[in-house]
Amino acid sequence: MNKAKTILVLGGGIGGVVAASRLRKGLSREHRVVLIEREPDYVFAPSFLWLMTGLRQREKISRPLSKLHKQGIELVQGTIERIDPDTHTVWVDGRELVGDYLIIALGAELAPETIPGLARAGHNFYSLEGAEALRDARLGLRAGRVVVLVSAMPFKCPAAPYEAAMLLEYDFRKRKLGEQIKVDLYSPEPGPMPVAGPEVSRQVRQMVEAKGIGYYPEHAVTQVDATARRIQFANGASTEFDLLAYVPPHRVPRVVAECGLADESGWVPVHRQTLETQFPGVYAIGDVTGIMLSMGKPLPKAGVFAHGEAEVVAGNLVHAITGKGKPAQFDGHGECFIETGDGKAGFGSGNFFSEPVPEIKLRQPSRTLHIGKVAFEKYWLFEWF
Ligand SMILES: Cc1cc2nc3c(=O)[nH]c(=O)nc-3n(C[C@H](O)[C@H](O)[C@H](O)COP(=O)(O)OP(=O)(O)OC[C@H]3O[C@@H](n4cnc5c(N)ncnc54)[C@H](O)[C@@H]3O)c2cc1C
Repeated sequence: MNKAKTILVLGGGIGGVVAASRLRKGLSREHRVVLIEREPDYVFAPSFLWLMTGLRQREKISRPLSKLHKQGIELVQGTIERIDPDTHTVWVDGRELVGDYLIIALGAELAPETIPGLARAGHNFYSLEGAEALRDARLGLRAGRVVVLVSAMPFKCPAAPYEAAMLLEYDFRKRKLGEQIKVDLYSPEPGPMPVAGPEVSRQVRQMVEAKGIGYYPEHAVTQVDATARRIQFANGASTEFDLLAYVPPHRVPRVVAECGLADESGWVPVHRQTLETQFPGVYAIGDVTGIMLSMGKPLPKAGVFAHGEAEVVAGNLVHAITGKGKPAQFDGHGECFIETGDGKAGFGSGNFFSEPVPEIKLRQPSRTLHIGKVAFEKYWLFEWF
């Protein structure tokens, strides 16, 4: 049972960092925990929303992944070019690594180029550079129309575009431009956060519309004309903008698609409680997975799920390798703060695995909840680095 093992953790985002840290804490040093990531720094994506309105700087929300060496995690910095899930082999910039177990935590790839004109016309606030570009561009706008656009489903953090619209509206109002600048939000969704149920959806829509933000659901973008600053939708409608902030289409990373781990849904199917894939010894966690709920919609992509799934997989591997602890199951619990501007946030929480539909409750926006979100950001970056 105690033969030395090697666990390869693919991806150093939320899921990968939590999985690697938990494994390292649970396993003695004869076992190797190897984290493979192409970026030198971990960046806390939920804070992009504050960064784009000038409330954070890149340095405040980034941590060098090399800090994980101190914990005894071996960091391999490079791009994963190929995965063989049968033999647990991974190729990183030409180097071959073999593990006893693989944990795939490679997230979702952002693909703005799949919508003609989108990348040239707007700012992708789902990337660090895009959020910074939006932060600067918004300062140049003194009057006109800002469109927040969800370009395709699924996308990570179902609340983020709604938060982005409310934070931008608040930013313009704070800078005495509220009368001159109008913020509107277009999305292909039938309503905000549809998986959370009609009541939560209604409440989030109300929060957005109470700020004077125009909300246009069931609008799926087909192309954007960067010169005319015009968005064309599949339903025949079109609209103009002065500043465009968009959520790009998401897809499974190419390296995952090519190795046969993804199915026709486009994502990696897993056992929803153990996160096992169809390949023995290979687990997938976080945004890269596709977990279908019995209501017929997939589990949303969010850091809170990547984190919870990482804890389960790491704990179960520690148990399998050492016999310590008890086997655990991922229970579908999730929660998130929803920034609403004016220094306030709401908070949604509940169980997404409840039958027949998820049971989610929303707490109304308050100053205390906003402080809770700030505290969570601080805790997260402190706890894992
Ligand atoms: C603006 C915004 C706000 C958000 N707010 C919230 C929130 O409030 N609450 C919440 O729960 N979630 C939130 N999220 C979502 C959350 O950030 C993601 O769901 C979470 O990061 C997913 O974790 P993951 O480990 O699956 O993937 P990621 O954290 O995306 O990590 C994947 C990692 O894999 C690496 N990688 C990919 N391909 C390769 C390769 N070929 N070789 C090497 N490395 C590779 C990437 O560089 C990346 O570091 C937000 C996201 C955004 C963009």
